[in-house]
Amino acid sequence: MPAQHLNALSLILPNTRFITDKSDMAVFCIDQRARFQADAWAVLQPSTVSDVQALMRYCFHENIPVTPQGGNTGLCGGATPHARLGGKGFIVSLSRLNALRELNLADNAITVEAGMVLAQVQAIAQKAERFFPLSLASEGSCQIGGNIACNAGGLNVVRYGTMRDLVLGLETVLPSGELVSHLQPLHKNTTGYAWQQQITGSEGTLGIITAATLKLFAPPRSVLTAWAGIDNIQAALSLLAAVKNYFAERLSSFEIISNDALQLSAGYSRLNPPVSAVWHVLMEISDSLPCVSNHQEQLFEVLSDADCFNAVIAQSEQERQNLWKLRENISAAQRNLGASIKHDISLPIAAVADFIAECQPIIQQAYPHANIVVFGHLGDGSLHYNVFLPEVLGNDVYRFEEHINILVYECVLKHSGSIAAEHGIGQIKNHWLPRVRTAEEIAWMRSQKHFFDPNNIMNPGKLLPSETDV
Ligand SMILES: Cc1cc2nc3c(=O)[nH]c(=O)nc-3n(C[C@H](O)[C@H](O)[C@H](O)COP(=O)(O)OP(=O)(O)OC[C@H]3O[C@@H](n4cnc5c(N)ncnc54)[C@H](O)[C@@H]3O)c2cc1C
Repeated sequence: MPAQHLNALSLILPNTRFITDKSDMAVFCIDQRARFQADAWAVLQPSTVSDVQALMRYCFHENIPVTPQGGNTGLCGGATPHARLGGKGFIVSLSRLNALRELNLADNAITVEAGMVLAQVQAIAQKAERFFPLSLASEGSCQIGGNIACNAGGLNVVRYGTMRDLVLGLETVLPSGELVSHLQPLHKNTTGYAWQQQITGSEGTLGIITAATLKLFAPPRSVLTAWAGIDNIQAALSLLAAVKNYFAERLSSFEIISNDALQLSAGYSRLNPPVSAVWHVLMEISDSLPCVSNHQEQLFEVLSDADCFNAVIAQSEQERQNLWKLRENISAAQRNLGASIKHDISLPIAAVADFIAECQPIIQQAYPHANIVVFGHLGDGSLHYNVFLPEVLGNDVYRFEEHINILVYECVLKHSGSIAAEHGIGQIKNHWLPRVRTAEEIAWMRSQKHFFDPNNIMNPGKLLPSETDV
């Protein structure tokens, strides 16, 4: 059966690489933290939009499941096929559909194909004296299509918003193979339903994103990066309020890091922690003007007004990079502790301190040896809340995942937070959807899914609660 489909496709997809050798496919069939693994008939890598259309037309007609894949850095099992498909279907990797279509400096917009790696978009913008602000620790591998599909967030959301705020226009191939193209650089366009908003955050369940027009900004020409040691979360929140109040939109990042997370990263990065404290804040203030000489003085003033004397400000680009390395290496450093149960949550900023104070004892009552590593983007209220069980080896820890999720998510919901701040739902949280979206909202989502994908071939088993995706 797969051979028959592969033969037929090889005749209609002149610009597609077929990967059928199981050892070559392996890296596409497992997610980056080895949490989800499932087989497929083949990995297909089209390099033209017309091939994506022909491929989808064929799969629609033959009822073949398709799993879109970008850089495969997602953390919710969205980009690997669902095990319930039993190996049926194709992984469609967008890596070769990666051209720059247009750089439009007058409109501050860039149009790129979905497979372009995020770091490359940043580099093109920088070369043109512009700035693309989406920034994640995975930016060297994740792709624009994946960033849009997940509505990625990252380090600069406090100033520039999430991917949803950065997309001006989209081009998408529907499950039927039809092309919906609305690539436009307009920053104002109120002409009815917004296609780009419908697709952003849809996690590959409504179609394959093939290109996007994205907003660019003036580059930050003067940047102040500070690291502050803090006694407790409440003090970090007071500092956030003071810095926001004073520097307003110039505050581009405000990260929180627990001392456990810092110690892990410092060892991994071979760097000394900048200060000793229970909690740490890494913040960045930036301006498009090249010489803003008094910002440093003003920041010192704000820090001292907030009683925050345990702080350093980077005095060189090298020092700045070292501070960011300590933040960005946390994810990689955590792997030395083994597998963890990860939570990508957000909370109203005023509730963050209560959540942290309440959740830890709840978990440690059930799992006395649990080690909780907390870090994240406090400026926008989102946290990575990762639970390690040191006595449990490897992927065995996932036996406790459902129970630990209940403990964490119930506490998040009690404080009116979200169980998915920026990584999405994928196949790991879809059974939680009825707890976080109303029945009416889920019915509306299902109606959209049914309209675009009546045969449920687009990324089945993801986002919507399973079994009855459509
Ligand atoms: C070290 C590390 C740090 C991270 N930090 C952050 C962070 O700070 N903020 C954050 O938001 N995320 C973060 N992530 C998560 C991840 O990098 C993002 O979710 C990213 O946006 C995924 O992009 P990707 O290209 O790897 O997508 P993939 O993992 O390949 O896919 C993710 C989802 O998008 C769908 N998809 C991919 N491409 C397309 C397409 N062209 N059309 C339709 N659907 C598509 C897939 O089917 C899947 O459902 C981090 C991950 C790692 C490993």
